[in-house]
Amino acid sequence: MNLSTPNILPTPAHLVELERLGDAIAELSAHLDAATARLLDLIREFDARGGWGNGFASCAAWLTWRIGLDRGAARERVRVARALGSLPRLAQALARGELSYSKVRALTRVATPETEERLLKVGGAGTAEHVERIVRGWRRVDRIAEAQESTRRHQRRALHVYQDEDGMVVVRGRLEPEAGAVLMKAVEAGREALYRRRDDVSAETRPDGAPGERYQVVVHIDAHVLADADAPGQSVLEDGAHVSAETSQRLACDASRVVMRHDPDGRVTEVGARTRTIPPALRRALQHRDNGCRFPGCRLPFGQGHHIRHWGNGGPTTLSNLAMLCRRHHRAVHEEGYMVERQPEGELRFRRPDGRLLPHVPPPATVPTEPVETLRAQNDARGLHIDAQTSRPGWFGERLDLGYAIDVLHPLATSRA
Ligand SMILES: [Zn+2]
Ligand SMILES: [Zn+2]
Repeated sequence: MNLSTPNILPTPAHLVELERLGDAIAELSAHLDAATARLLDLIREFDARGGWGNGFASCAAWLTWRIGLDRGAARERVRVARALGSLPRLAQALARGELSYSKVRALTRVATPETEERLLKVGGAGTAEHVERIVRGWRRVDRIAEAQESTRRHQRRALHVYQDEDGMVVVRGRLEPEAGAVLMKAVEAGREALYRRRDDVSAETRPDGAPGERYQVVVHIDAHVLADADAPGQSVLEDGAHVSAETSQRLACDASRVVMRHDPDGRVTEVGARTRTIPPALRRALQHRDNGCRFPGCRLPFGQGHHIRHWGNGGPTTLSNLAMLCRRHHRAVHEEGYMVERQPEGELRFRRPDGRLLPHVPPPATVPTEPVETLRAQNDARGLHIDAQTSRPGWFGERLDLGYAIDVLHPLATSRA
């Protein structure tokens, strides 16, 4: 035995193996982060161009339906995607696999174009836990600054309401955001009430099944207009406002109905008893069967009864000819060209205005047989050089002094109270 050789034992094979496994995890994670950046780019563009608007309440709702994310995760994706639109450095660091999605998600909660550069350094230097703590500390400083800002706003608030010489009411003021929001809500509610009084005879069933007829107006419709929206004739609200034939068909779909007969001079000769186009018992059965809006991806728990074949057109008021749709999707079907039909076996089939099917369940995505190799090849093709070290932080194990870090990093930290 040669005693002069340094006493270094060979690393046992199973440890070498585990190290390789760890590197593979780090490398693939960085590849996935890089791919996530592309995914977020696509989501941002889809969101901005309103691609989800064909029947979904939000981009997050669409993501839930299409790619199976839970609501919270979907909302977070959309939030991060939007934020990265104005934070190019953070976006690029994610796209190069240098910053993990977790870090980017945390940093986008506080980053602005002005502070992005500094926060990028935080992301690159610290662990995910450091980043999380710094973001929390950062938000505390933001909240103090916000409190000061709101005191300033409070001191500058004012509201003047007065009547002009010509009778018009003039409103002028500066309100704190939450007071402004309340005012806007009140104005909107008032406008909505006016709008409904003009335009709506429909009733909605709440989940408890109690039919609640909230507004009712009388729409005078020529019978042949109800049967065929293209037929000449008139639809007039009682106050004289004209509505489209499509709208009057929707209003009449689920409404209180009073049949009046007119003589050739327009005088009313006979008035029938007021009946509901969908009797309460049938409406309860409909609510029980459909359990909310049936439009693909909607699932709003209450809605209006839609006659698949309109009653004005000879369609019967039976369960098989009815489908529950929320207000928004009832409008989509009557006025925006969406189509619904019932299949012989009872299933509903929805079509887009151009006739293409709108599936209840999205078509499955095609996944390559070697997804990891494919991802690697795609990232390589983009000139990315990702390995097990790409997302390693520059941290050497020193303790994080949070107070100092925030003081150095946050632009408003020095003005702290
Ligand atoms: Zn309808
Ligand atoms: Zn709906």
